[in-house]
Amino acid sequence: MKTGAKRRKPYRLPPDAGDPLARAVDDLPGIGAVRARRLRSLGTVTVRDMLLTRPRRYEDRRERRADPWVAGESRPARVVIQSAKLKRWGWRRCVLETEATAVGGECIRLRWFHMPYLAQRIAPGARLWVFGKLKSADGAWSMDNPEFEAEDDDGEPIHRDRIVPVYPLAGQVPQRVYRSAVGTALSTLPAHVAPADPCIDSLGTWPWAIRALHFPQTLSEAEYARRRLALEEFLEWQTAMTLRRAEANRAPSFPVPPQPETISRVLANAGFPPTGAQRRVMSEIAEDLGRNVPMNRLLQGDVGSGKTLVAAVAMAQVAAAGRSCALMAPTAPLARQHFHTLGQLLARLDLPLRLLIGDECQAPAEGRTGIWVGTHALFQERTQIPRLGLIVIDEQHRFGVGQRARLRAKGDAPHLLVMSATPIPRTLGLTLYGDLDVSVLDESPPGRRPPQTTVCSPSRTPEAWAFAKTKADEDKQVFAIFPAIGRGAARGLKSLESEAEAIRARFHPHRVAIAHGQMPPEERDAAMADFASGDARVLLATTLVEVGIDVPGAAVMIVEHAERFGLAQLHQIRGRVGRRGEPSWCILICRGSSNATKRRLEALARHDDGFKIAEIDFQARGAGELLGTIQSGHVSFRMGNLMTDAALILAARDMAREILAADPSLSSPNHAALAGAARTLAQRFETGAADPA
Ligand code: ADP
Ligand code: MG
Repeated sequence: MKTGAKRRKPYRLPPDAGDPLARAVDDLPGIGAVRARRLRSLGTVTVRDMLLTRPRRYEDRRERRADPWVAGESRPARVVIQSAKLKRWGWRRCVLETEATAVGGECIRLRWFHMPYLAQRIAPGARLWVFGKLKSADGAWSMDNPEFEAEDDDGEPIHRDRIVPVYPLAGQVPQRVYRSAVGTALSTLPAHVAPADPCIDSLGTWPWAIRALHFPQTLSEAEYARRRLALEEFLEWQTAMTLRRAEANRAPSFPVPPQPETISRVLANAGFPPTGAQRRVMSEIAEDLGRNVPMNRLLQGDVGSGKTLVAAVAMAQVAAAGRSCALMAPTAPLARQHFHTLGQLLARLDLPLRLLIGDECQAPAEGRTGIWVGTHALFQERTQIPRLGLIVIDEQHRFGVGQRARLRAKGDAPHLLVMSATPIPRTLGLTLYGDLDVSVLDESPPGRRPPQTTVCSPSRTPEAWAFAKTKADEDKQVFAIFPAIGRGAARGLKSLESEAEAIRARFHPHRVAIAHGQMPPEERDAAMADFASGDARVLLATTLVEVGIDVPGAAVMIVEHAERFGLAQLHQIRGRVGRRGEPSWCILICRGSSNATKRRLEALARHDDGFKIAEIDFQARGAGELLGTIQSGHVSFRMGNLMTDAALILAARDMAREILAADPSLSSPNHAALAGAARTLAQRFETGAADPA
């Protein structure tokens, strides 16, 4: 580094005078380059981002002189310092110990650790406002490291004498610095910000709500303001969804003429009559397919409700009418299984069926239409599917809003059927799938008996395995699911590899197959095939089997460390056994010690309705956990809470519909802001980064 040379200040763009909210946060006092970088890592780039950061909680720092002091409570106090002593020990270690008297007459000892520079400001005679947690020992009051301000600080107090916001800052920036910056940002708020819809302003304007969110007069005012902002946020989202749906409806698609002949041949191949629910959904789909606007349908059905047959019937109709279909599965084993099942269901229909997994592609004859079954590979750039008429996505919860948009771009306004086995609570569904019509398979095929589910403590593990062994000896198959693969998983976690040897010995002479995500795909597929054919009596696997694998002979499911899985996921997992209607068992080994964990798992033993279970899971662990594996198109709201704001979500949906009914292209100047927000969101859907921030 050159010395002596004058260092030039780095050049910075002058602030954009046009929109104070679009300024970068480094413009605010106290936020330099370093803190701005840290804030960026939290997703806060502009002043608008900062103002839309919801306080994690509030602290009531108003004087409550009449309230008695209570140990353990945080409270403010006005004090005069009587004596102060700095004690040092070791390098940089010290404590500033003071005795003070409070305005109410109480004596209190205040201590600040490792901040020697405070000694200058906190000297005898200093009048301070302090805020901290009260402690009491032998009748003497004390506070450690209280926040403080000199009493004579002028200006409007930000950190004291009010309800004060505490932000989710992950320790990146001190609360006080951030709070001051918010205060400055609030002082530059424009008087008017156009609302998404004029009626929203009647609930309070945006600048009012933002101020009330950060510095509310009362806690209920803060919550009111949050709900006002959340309603607008949900409205933007619902409008974007509704617009997308309207746009999809504008593109003319290929109307599939009725194919009763084809349908009855598929049903004959199935060898069982469809359930009432299957019939109903099949006719809903046939009706959609017959229209000249593309179908956009979500098929929800609990594990084992028979979605595959419904999909097969839909694809057969489209293929028989001379268009291609694509069925996308989330994993290769599942794609293979579908390929196999469809082979049976579509036998003697003369509809070409192809499997496409990774590079392994059974290339169709040039330009011929047919039914493609595969994984993501189906939708790679280079895969050309001629005359694509229908896309079916199995296990929809693994695909985001944005992915859906890109798949659709593959064909010329193809029909779309997405199938989900993870039942999604209604409000979440409205949010994630607001652009889709919904069909529900609410009836299981006859003779189904849910697996008998038990939650088992670690001490009963040998008993559980012994039970599984007796079932294996009776020719039944056994699944065992582990949360981890390698021995290195550590922390006392039972892993697939750490247990495999003992399990092999226990089940001798039956064959034990192993399948997990880190194996070469061929080996893994071979293991799954081994189990599916019944050659292997036991399958040790990771959650790979969660998604849709159908092995009719499986009767026992053992899940190790069940506490590590979500309920909806466990429900999927146990849906893998008892698929022939014979008695089946699911044993959840719970190694978690908390009572809440046990209770959560017990809910699974009590309920066998997937929707109920999803609801419980949703309440206990939140949307993110329920959707766990969503890769993109992740939904997050700044103000809204998907779990608790159901009523707001419904209201927003109705508002969006009314607004678009009256002003379909959002061309009214009243809706300029909404149009902008909804377009930005729609664009994010397209690119897969659907974060309504
Ligand atoms: P999921 O909805 O979980 O994808 P599947 O389509 O894999 O369920 O069906 C589960 C099992 O139920 C399969 O073995 C299938 O053959 C069988 N099945 C589906 N529909 C019926 C029905 N109407 N009657 C009897 N068995 C059925
Ligand atoms: Mg399935």
